[in-house]
Amino acid sequence: MYNEIFDLIKSYNNIVVVRHVGVDPDAMASSIALRDSIKLTFPEKNVLAIGNGTVRFNFMGFLDKGIDFNQMDNILLIVTDTPDKKRVDMEGLTHYEKSIKIDHHPFIEKFCDVELIDPDKSSASEMVYDLINNTPLLLNKQICEELFAGIVGDTNRFLFSNSKCETFNVVADMIKNYNIDITKVYYNLYRRPLSEVKFFGYMANNIKTTENGVGFMILRNEDLISYGVDSATSGNLINEFNNIGELLIWLSATEDVKNNFIRVSVRSRGPVINTVLERHGGGGHALASGAKLKTFEEVDELIKDLDNLCKDYLESSDK
Ligand code: AMP
Repeated sequence: MYNEIFDLIKSYNNIVVVRHVGVDPDAMASSIALRDSIKLTFPEKNVLAIGNGTVRFNFMGFLDKGIDFNQMDNILLIVTDTPDKKRVDMEGLTHYEKSIKIDHHPFIEKFCDVELIDPDKSSASEMVYDLINNTPLLLNKQICEELFAGIVGDTNRFLFSNSKCETFNVVADMIKNYNIDITKVYYNLYRRPLSEVKFFGYMANNIKTTENGVGFMILRNEDLISYGVDSATSGNLINEFNNIGELLIWLSATEDVKNNFIRVSVRSRGPVINTVLERHGGGGHALASGAKLKTFEEVDELIKDLDNLCKDYLESSDK
């Protein structure tokens, strides 16, 4: 399939790379690194990476803005890190001729002509690296650093079980052959303002637990205002609550008054959560999922379902 994807890339002059809404490091990295690699290989092509960004990922690279897609025809669309069409962040782009998906989420639906899907991969960034490495597409230090940031983001610094032998081989290759500056990438990814660290303390102080090991943090708009943080902050911090002995699943539910929903970020140390989140209109990976809920009553329902999941998990094993 690598050859098929490369041949499509080679044959199109207008290429647009997109990823999922609610950008995270892997979504950002996989899309901009693929754009940068195609541009490096084929400087004459018009290659764009689009979607809503966030200031904290500016260090990774730029996004292409203000494009009038009506002026472009024969577009090849490449979607990274997104399993379903409704979550593709491509406002304004309605017409394209061919499409490719490169994703590591569990399969949800086919919506591209060519789909490279591997849920065993750590990240879409690792998949983009593999694609580049197995085709005439080119790499350089900057592209490797972008992809490294994506891999680090989705493996939570190689703590998660999705960090496989191949993942470490990819990183070893990046260090050996491209001399990537891992300290710089880590600093850029994990540097945070003091307000966020204080908010982390507030979250930790306000974890409530259920009978069977769900930890939950309910964060209201007034909490965000008093700590000077935004509604995305809690989701950025959720991985930091890993390895709490009493918890199997932990989540933050954060009021987003601007968009009129409650952002829920859920993580698990064992029970498979994405199927439960799908029942609540969300989705994601087996051990890292999310949803946008309308009311705190729906959050309570979700917590109940997750608590039942933990109960079944504990009963079915001697964990
Ligand atoms: P987050 O907690 O936002 O970091 O998301 C963790 C994972 O769940 C990512 O793979 C997201 O793509 C996925 N996810 C988050 N929110 C949603 C949602 N509303 N619907 C489907 N998947 C989601």
